[in-house]
Amino acid sequence: MSKENFQFQAEVGKILNIVANSLYSEKEIFLREYISNASDACDKLRYESLQNSNLSNKEDFKILVSFSKKNKTISISDNGIGMGKSELINSLGTIAKSGTEEFIKKLENKNEKNIEQIGKFGVGFYSGFMVAEKITVLSIKAGEKSGWKWSSDGKGGFDIEEDSSHKIGSIITLYLKKDAMDFLENVRLNNIIKKYSDHITHPVFLFDKDKKDYKEEQANQSLALWTKNKRDIKEEDYNNFYTQSGLNYDKPWKVLHNQNEGTINFTNLIFIPSEKPFDLLHADKKVNIKLYVKKVFITDNCENLIPKYMRFLNGIIDSEDISLNISREMLQNDPVIAKIRNNIVKKVISELEKELKNNKDNYTKFWENFGPVLKEGIHEDFTNKDTILKLSMFESSKKEGWTTLDDYIKRMSKDQKEIYYISGESKSNLLKSPQMESFITNNLEVLFFTDPIDEFWIPNIDNFNDYKFKSITKGAVDFKNKEVNKKEKENKDKSFEKLTAYLKSFYGDKVKDVRVSNRLTSSPVCFVADESSMDIHLENILKKHKHLNEISAKILEINPNHALIKFLNKIDTNDKKNLIKVKNISNMLLDQANLLEGIPLDDSKDFCNKLNDLILLSIN
Ligand code: ADP
Repeated sequence: MSKENFQFQAEVGKILNIVANSLYSEKEIFLREYISNASDACDKLRYESLQNSNLSNKEDFKILVSFSKKNKTISISDNGIGMGKSELINSLGTIAKSGTEEFIKKLENKNEKNIEQIGKFGVGFYSGFMVAEKITVLSIKAGEKSGWKWSSDGKGGFDIEEDSSHKIGSIITLYLKKDAMDFLENVRLNNIIKKYSDHITHPVFLFDKDKKDYKEEQANQSLALWTKNKRDIKEEDYNNFYTQSGLNYDKPWKVLHNQNEGTINFTNLIFIPSEKPFDLLHADKKVNIKLYVKKVFITDNCENLIPKYMRFLNGIIDSEDISLNISREMLQNDPVIAKIRNNIVKKVISELEKELKNNKDNYTKFWENFGPVLKEGIHEDFTNKDTILKLSMFESSKKEGWTTLDDYIKRMSKDQKEIYYISGESKSNLLKSPQMESFITNNLEVLFFTDPIDEFWIPNIDNFNDYKFKSITKGAVDFKNKEVNKKEKENKDKSFEKLTAYLKSFYGDKVKDVRVSNRLTSSPVCFVADESSMDIHLENILKKHKHLNEISAKILEINPNHALIKFLNKIDTNDKKNLIKVKNISNMLLDQANLLEGIPLDDSKDFCNKLNDLILLSIN
């Protein structure tokens, strides 16, 4: 069959352009990417052959890095699963992972030197073009008869032709560029393999093709670190394992290594990272935990092993109590998996509790990275929701930095029976909201719920340690002296009765109600929602994401002490000569309330016209 030519997807073209012209000093990472792919390919075949004996491989799995100064090549071969024709086209010509676009943008910015992270974005293969002017991939998919050869100079496209000279797995050959010849040294390659791939579970051998009597040498230790005794493991070993096994680039924030014995026997070597991965909040972010059965890799895609709200975890779990031949589908429902999951969740939570108690500053670092994700557990994990609430931190109107609910309660006055909160985009924005005004003057602390996830757990959580959560943008609020307040409010309500009635009829169904406020001090108006209605901020989020067609009508509160409201209260709204003035002021007030909540105006042009008229009046 003749050669077929394919074009790279546009994004691949961009990546290739960047890597080919790169001046990155960490070019050596290409080898890590290729060894990691080769190791994955071996893992995949080992797992597939457990379920399909036709695929079983008589040889031991191995990865071979061979080089030739004469030919100016480095080859990485494996006896893993291999790739068929369509996989070669799809895997080595298109990009499937989300987030890659952001990575390309970062790379295009010359000051960002994060080529190191290429593997995380599912484009590690292309890193080879930093050192090679041409790459060929000879591959045969396990179970198939025909093999294929992929080749490309990394400029625009690639060729594919049938080539069955190769028997099993893949051989990737890099034809080195002139400025990359220094990689063709045994010592150099040996060091790179040790540096990046010492913990790869399959052996990596090094071979000098030009030397006749040269024997393959194993260059990595291929340790299953988790099987070693904790006492014999140094911090550095854990750190190396962490970076090499998960292609992580930070240092672990916490290491949880336990050999668990009891009804279920399993080992966990789990890391909590110290940096936030770029795709943490993406809906398709996978939990990065690999499942092994007696050192045999089974899957890195077992959804039930770790709850989604702990998707920041990395590492491995190895259990002898799971059958090696279990299918992926059965695995999801295996009770052993559920037990391991409960155990891991407990361990992580207890580690976090310990840290919060003993080293709050360090805990805060964790919280800033992963708090928004952990909080998903408040509404997803019924058993642990109270503990996760206890571990949660919020910004507050009274304190700099973060505060826990326990700390908030400690600071509350005796009369306060509720935990006040307001939700919105950011602390600085919320501090300026009109609903905050009286809380600030009455010296009442309000917590700021600024993560979108807060909107989802709060409706289902009634209280924390018997203190109810109270949104300050919903329903009525009682300030300190209830009796005085009540009397004052009744008098105010009476003296503004006519105005509220007028406004109600003027606004019609644009508002749910109009009432005199006791929460405003400097703003003339604000919106509040009914106690039983959805929070205003949540409604806004849902509307923005098109989960709601309409924003519901709100209660408009008016400030009886504001000059504008006092003016409106005095003026005769029935007098025809006042008609336009009263109408304009009333419309402007409603527009203000909408703007303050970030609700788009029905007629922004009209608002601007009126504003301009007022400005003109004030300067004429
Ligand atoms: P990633 O490994 O993160 O998916 P890469 O760009 O490194 O991204 O590789 C793309 C894909 O090509 C891999 O997901 C895999 O399907 C395939 N691949 C690469 N190298 C090999 C190999 N040696 N054997 C089998 N498949 C491979």
